[in-house]
Amino acid sequence: MLDRKIRIGAAGSDGLGYLKAITKAARMGLGCVEVAFTYGVRMKPEEAEAVGRLAREKDITLSVHAPYYINLAADDPTKLAASKERILSSCRMAAVMGARNVVFHAGFYQERSAAKTFARIARAIENLLTAVQKNRWAVVLCPETTGKPAQFGSLDECLQLARETGCGFTIDFSHLLARAAGNIDYGKVLDRLPRHVHAHFSGIEYGPKGERKHLKTTPKFFRPLAEALVGRCIDMTLISESPRPYQDAAMMKRLIGKLEAGPPIRRSARTST
Ligand SMILES: [Zn+2]
Repeated sequence: MLDRKIRIGAAGSDGLGYLKAITKAARMGLGCVEVAFTYGVRMKPEEAEAVGRLAREKDITLSVHAPYYINLAADDPTKLAASKERILSSCRMAAVMGARNVVFHAGFYQERSAAKTFARIARAIENLLTAVQKNRWAVVLCPETTGKPAQFGSLDECLQLARETGCGFTIDFSHLLARAAGNIDYGKVLDRLPRHVHAHFSGIEYGPKGERKHLKTTPKFFRPLAEALVGRCIDMTLISESPRPYQDAAMMKRLIGKLEAGPPIRRSARTST
């Protein structure tokens, strides 16, 4: 028996609110839910507590996605401070919920070199890590691999950031695929990852400037990743970020299960007496 665990789940509450969404995820046999603070951290602490309690009861692993509007490489000190505050308020709420991984898109190069952008973001992350420690929040900062070459967040950058600052990261496989214009070998990506990984996946539309938008996930699109995952010693929470996140997460789970079970035994292969 392979010693590893892949939990598949969905981003957002599907318009239900998180209490109902967690119940729905559990009913569908999913293993994780990502609370998306897309436009701001608007959840009340009491709600976060209730969501955390229910998730533990239903064995659903929670993660949090910080608001989208974040730029840790910003020149403007007000923008930088606001970006940090968005991440920290996400961490605060994640800690109340018992969510470990806090996902965010770290920033943009704008007119700056990649090296300078990296240095700025690394410094901001170090500051954030100090604040997390001071507050004793049991969370991991997880900057995400992004889908546009103009945006900070290649696989190399995220891995280096983790090495140098001690933060975590989120691997968005679809974003990596968009950055590479479809030319991706998931096995090679997985070879570079640690044992525990937080990840995103969905169908994706992309062009010369990378990601355009997330699409529904088809079994055919997920299959190469599923095949690379099956048989590998890795613990992963894999979040479906498609426009129908729950339905597609269930499909992803079914496909992984099918691949793990192996090809069906053909009748003729069972020698009859
Ligand atoms: Zn993502």
